[in-house]
Amino acid sequence: MIVTYIGLGSNLGDSRQILAEAVQKLATLGEVKTSHLYQSPPMGPQDQPNYLNAVVQLTTNLAALSLLDRLQAFEQEAGRVRLRHWGERTLDLDLLIYGNEQIQNERLTVPHVGVLERDFVLIPLLDIDSEIQVNDTFLKDLDIVKQSTLTVLDDSNWANI
Ligand code: ATP
Ligand code: CA
Ligand code: CA
Repeated sequence: MIVTYIGLGSNLGDSRQILAEAVQKLATLGEVKTSHLYQSPPMGPQDQPNYLNAVVQLTTNLAALSLLDRLQAFEQEAGRVRLRHWGERTLDLDLLIYGNEQIQNERLTVPHVGVLERDFVLIPLLDIDSEIQVNDTFLKDLDIVKQSTLTVLDDSNWANI
């Protein structure tokens, strides 16, 4: 079994419901733990709604590319349409971390490029594992974590699992 982390984001439709459903779907792939639920300003184009974000820890025996296939199928089921780069979407599922593996191919870069740079990924990762490391860096020690102004929306059982 591999411990993986998936980043969830949504800023179109009923984002809270969409993320909760995504967690239920991820739970069909293995054991899950969820972060709190957060609200964050958009990356890229600023003329789009704020995002809801969370991270799920998924322990699974799926191979990385098979897991990506499942994540992309879940995005499609949530009605994802590509409008513009970093634009609005009903559901974004990024494979942030896959065990200790470094993966680099045309479909997959793991750890995900955003892991060390985005507070809406780092803060929820730390909810699940406060000692988590990526490439020998303790995420809790990053300046962006210490300076984060991310808004917690819900620290109860928002995904109902
Ligand atoms: P970003 O990747 O910067 O967060 P994004 O999530 O908006 O941007 P997408 O349009 O969702 O980008 O994905 C573009 C492609 O990224 C996908 O088709 C997928 O093959 C590729 N990709 C590479 N690494 C990953 C990863 N770790 N998780 C998910 N997709 C990945
Ligand atoms: Ca993304
Ligand atoms: Ca993505």
